[in-house]
Amino acid sequence: MTTLYGGIEAGGTKFVCAVGTTPNDLRETRFSTTTPAETIARAVEFFRAQPPVAAIGIGAFGPIDPNPSSPTFGFITTTPKSGWRNVDLAGALRRTLGVPVGFDTDVNVAALGEHRWGAAQNLDTFVYLTIGTGIGGGGLASGKLLHGLIHPEMGHFFPPHDRTRDPFPGACPFHGDCLEGLAAGPALEKRWGARAETLPADHPAWDLEAHYLAHALVNYICILSPQRIVLGGGVMEQAQLFPKIRRTVQRLLNGYVQAPAITEQIDTYIVPPGLGNRAGIGGALALAQRQGS
Ligand code: ADP
Ligand code: ZN
Repeated sequence: MTTLYGGIEAGGTKFVCAVGTTPNDLRETRFSTTTPAETIARAVEFFRAQPPVAAIGIGAFGPIDPNPSSPTFGFITTTPKSGWRNVDLAGALRRTLGVPVGFDTDVNVAALGEHRWGAAQNLDTFVYLTIGTGIGGGGLASGKLLHGLIHPEMGHFFPPHDRTRDPFPGACPFHGDCLEGLAAGPALEKRWGARAETLPADHPAWDLEAHYLAHALVNYICILSPQRIVLGGGVMEQAQLFPKIRRTVQRLLNGYVQAPAITEQIDTYIVPPGLGNRAGIGGALALAQRQGS
């Protein structure tokens, strides 16, 4: 009999819950993220109505505690999202459903999906960055999911901010003009006065956006030496960003990192997710499959 696994993409706006064996055979449901009690109850209700799963993987918005030896493992911790501070998301599901539950950041989990089925297969060091409502990065280093003190916060790196070129002060509630404050979807909307998806492909927004993202990528390249960088999230639906980002990364590195992947094959080095918008839920399934193994 086929072993089924469960996955939860726990976003700040919506939850996606799924049961299956690969991203291609999932039975899933999605609902808005409301209060923790109501949202967790809906997830439980979904899994109870499905055939039993061997384990569940959760990719969660954060900040979270992904350290299995910590007393608050599985918690959403210091999130600014109302009502969700110090919520034991993984524990609630583990206790109620009685199955092992894997828990990590939404971006580490999406990275795992890309590693298992998408654009990062067979790589042991890579970055997955999402540019959406926020900006977050995860990935693997030497085959292990990136953790550390807590987990990386790649979206809150400070790119150079030339206020003559870009007087927008930045929208991050913690830092103002960090990368997320300057380049996430809501920052685009505030700066240009229109939702990012409505700006035309030749709008000056996209050169500036590529400029900020390329600075971030150059720093990740210098710090982590990733074998590939996968860029996902709603804002990266703007496909014209990819060539702009690739060219700017090459120009900023200026030939210093002498790897053909960057100097000659950058089109396959900075890429969209192989699973498209299914990286998150696919990764949650991949995380579930790792439990107990
Ligand atoms: P979330 O980050 O909430 O999971 P998304 O990755 O879809 O969800 O990101 C939502 C953000 O992306 C919004 O700020 C939205 O304006 C922006 N966005 C969504 N689609 C597009 C698009 N096609 N082009 C540019 N920006 C987009
Ligand atoms: Zn910030």
